[in-house]
Amino acid sequence: MTSVPPASTPARAFDFESALSARARTMRSSAIREILKITQRPDVISFAGGLPAPDLFPMEDVRRAADAALTRYGAAALQYSTTEGHPPLREWIAAQAGIPASNVQIVTGSQQGLDLLGKLLIGEGDVVLVEAPTYLGALQSFQPYLPQYVEMPTDAGGIDVDALEGILRAQRAAGRPARLLYAIPNFQNPTGRTLSLERRQRLVELTAEYGVLLLEDDPYGELRFSGEALPSLYELGLRLSGDVDRNHVIYSSSFSKTLVPGLRDAWVQAAAPIVAKLIQAKQGADLHTPTLNQMIVTELLPILPAQIERVRAAYGERAGLMVAAIGEHLPPEAGFTEPQGGMFLWITLPQRLDTEALLPRAVERRVAYVPGRPFFALGGGHSTMRLSYSNASPAQIAAGMAALGETVRGALEE
Ligand code: PMP
Repeated sequence: MTSVPPASTPARAFDFESALSARARTMRSSAIREILKITQRPDVISFAGGLPAPDLFPMEDVRRAADAALTRYGAAALQYSTTEGHPPLREWIAAQAGIPASNVQIVTGSQQGLDLLGKLLIGEGDVVLVEAPTYLGALQSFQPYLPQYVEMPTDAGGIDVDALEGILRAQRAAGRPARLLYAIPNFQNPTGRTLSLERRQRLVELTAEYGVLLLEDDPYGELRFSGEALPSLYELGLRLSGDVDRNHVIYSSSFSKTLVPGLRDAWVQAAAPIVAKLIQAKQGADLHTPTLNQMIVTELLPILPAQIERVRAAYGERAGLMVAAIGEHLPPEAGFTEPQGGMFLWITLPQRLDTEALLPRAVERRVAYVPGRPFFALGGGHSTMRLSYSNASPAQIAAGMAALGETVRGALEE
């Protein structure tokens, strides 16, 4: 080690706080992250973390795929590669969607897609429409670009499109039109709700009519375990515009929930002008998504249909058990969603209960959930909670829901 000469003047504490940009000062650590810390005791049954089930990860297939990718591509598997993404992977995604590969951008987790799209589409003070509640991670991605959020009312069927039309009209009249609408139409995080075909159609038409870009976040779409598959907003936008490069819907999805989240492989489908900007933004962010990871995912594509079937079946069973346990253990005043896919369901307790205040008592009884409040861009939702069933065994669901029922009944009796 080189020796540092003694300072001639005494060191002053450096003011890191004032070194931060205004943008950095808007960043908050996720409220969920803080909450998860108290729920991570090994004796607590946690329905809090939104984790895919690790017991379903195709471990041996991933091992073989990594080996196959290294054999097939040699050193190129470990070399820098193109920003747009590994060509065979882009082509496969494009073929599934029936669009050219040039309209597909591979991203490092759909979370990166949300961040890059926020950077491209949100200027300071721009109006962004979000569901109430919505995905907390999207709020975290968008916040540094300083949007002005407007919440869209929702009901059991997702976005209330009649209310949305009123909002769009009022915004236009006030000269403050929305720029971007962010929606999760399938098995939404956090509620598990799904938007009906009629509402999808209206949402796509309304946003086209009012000139609002529609960002569809769809990481769970493949994980439907009941009901009929519905067309994506992207597909409806394509039908409406008749042209992949005039579609005002931007689509985001991921291999995180169908394969594994740790490879961080996801993608965005969009019109050429958006993809061109995404490439530039991604170059500045990370040059490209890890080459080997993209090759591993490509090698895994042949097993994807069977893997999705396994995940669907397991999550369907776990969701069914949790819904039945709600009926058995929670008081009848508790409202809840019955998801047709995905990983989450949403409970609404009577207004006088606060789920943040209730959480320590639940943890005492060895069960944890996420209070709903952080999922609302503008606050509210104090009596709501998100439960994840994806990563819980039948025995954990039975014991955890009994404990949750005791906690809620106890609080209601006070
Ligand atoms: N969007 C939604 C709605 C999510 O729930 C998640 C993961 N929790 C993501 C995006 C990010 O997923 P990933 O970055 O792993 O693709």
